[in-house]
Amino acid sequence: MATPLLDDPRLSQATREFLSRPARLLIGGKWLNSKSGETLSVIEPSSGRELIQVAQAGAEDIDLAVKAATRAYQGRWHRLTPAERARLLWRLADLIEEHQREFSELESLNTGKPIGETTLADVPLAVEHFRYFAGWVTKLTGETLPVSQPGQYLAYTRREPLGVVGAIVPWNFPLMIASWKLAPALAAGNTVVLKPSELTPLSALRLGELALEAGFPPGVINIVPGLGREAGSALVNHPNVAKISFTGSTTVGREILIASAERFTRVTLELGGKSPNIVLPDADLDAVVGGAMMGAFFNQGEVCCAGSRLFVPRSDFDRVVEAVARRASVIHQGMGLDPTTEMGPLVSRQQMDRVLGYIDSGNQEGAVLVVGGEVNREAGSGFFVKPTIFIGEDRMRIAQEEIFGPVLVALPFDDLDDVVRRANASRYGLAAAVWTKDIAQGIKIAHALEAGTVWVNGYNLLDATSPWGGVKTSGLGREMGSYALQHYTEVKATWVNLGV
Ligand code: NAD
Repeated sequence: MATPLLDDPRLSQATREFLSRPARLLIGGKWLNSKSGETLSVIEPSSGRELIQVAQAGAEDIDLAVKAATRAYQGRWHRLTPAERARLLWRLADLIEEHQREFSELESLNTGKPIGETTLADVPLAVEHFRYFAGWVTKLTGETLPVSQPGQYLAYTRREPLGVVGAIVPWNFPLMIASWKLAPALAAGNTVVLKPSELTPLSALRLGELALEAGFPPGVINIVPGLGREAGSALVNHPNVAKISFTGSTTVGREILIASAERFTRVTLELGGKSPNIVLPDADLDAVVGGAMMGAFFNQGEVCCAGSRLFVPRSDFDRVVEAVARRASVIHQGMGLDPTTEMGPLVSRQQMDRVLGYIDSGNQEGAVLVVGGEVNREAGSGFFVKPTIFIGEDRMRIAQEEIFGPVLVALPFDDLDDVVRRANASRYGLAAAVWTKDIAQGIKIAHALEAGTVWVNGYNLLDATSPWGGVKTSGLGREMGSYALQHYTEVKATWVNLGV
């Protein structure tokens, strides 16, 4: 049902129309209500008000979706040529781009993030992802093998799809992360059941509409919003799902890994982080301030690779922390649709309470609060937490655990070996950054850091070509780049005896 939020004059007519349509499950090319009739209430986080209700998939709906995906995998999808599949992926990219404004608005409304960010990052990166993997469809080759067995053989490999992929997505970059999974899975010839986060299903549902418009055969892409413990778990445990591609918390990732052992379901996991952002003494101060802001406060700090540990040389510590705090204290917070907004609300009340809990723990453990540390009521009635900076110590929870909100912990260091050791003394290893004018030094430190990605003089740089994933408890496997395709295919070796 339409709510007063739909009267917001900043919303395009197309977005209003989407939000006025019934939001159902996409299963086998049809829009269906859930079997139970249950719905999810989707909240707009700057006001805390309900935006719309969306059909909520349960185990029965997941079963239907997996069956539809299985039929599609064995049927028309399998019979399309690689060039035909590539064209469909490219067409979907074009359609997302044509509807760029709608996607930017939906993503901003649903997650709270600034529309400037969804316009410049979330939507174009999703589009480029589909285009990048559209290019791969016709280039997934195997090898001929110079085998040494007596006799004569033609031995070769093929990269074959896995079957039905279950894709489970979090709420911080709903469209972008869905595209990280859909694009390589489809490029490799699999079919997909996509479960968006229960908090942020809107952009995925719009994507489902465009997938049908693009001409994907029914059942190739199924979209089933639902709760993690019901729909997510049903997908993970479904006997006909060949692979789970999961992005989310380390806790749930571990549960999925354990569940996957039952049937040897293939799994890739993109999980949490507590990334170190390391400033060397010669670094440019302006660049460091920009990098610290980008690392800690981009997307309200709700970023898996957030640079939430800022290591600064003791000799420069006060100067750097003061400059970063000055910039953080003037970040303009507001509703994501407001073009002047630099930082939006957190996604939910639960997430706000979690972040405030960490701020409490920082205060209790003796960290020094430099700026922020409280709710921003002036920004709106929703879930706004001010950008927060603490001076802390490695032993504190705020320096060890993933907060997933706008909380930065500044930590002084004395020498380079020490900072590398401390940066690596984390159970996580998703990303890291180093700031220095001495590029050779930057590269040496990059090689010593335990992380899936290291940036030298940059932060949050992502591209469809560059592999993404973590070491240690930050995950298993890689998304993006050619590396992703290895996780959506199996290699089959075939031997042909030429002597018979
Ligand atoms: P979450 O783990 O609570 O949920 C992620 C998804 O899993 C949601 O769709 C949820 O419904 C589903 N889910 C929850 N329990 C499940 C279960 N038992 N079985 C199957 N599915 C289940 O994470 P979140 O709060 O949505 O997202 C934040 C987390 O995601 C953070 O830890 C963040 O670091 C991580 N993340 C990682 C990356 C990366 O690329 N490494 C990117 C974005 C977010």
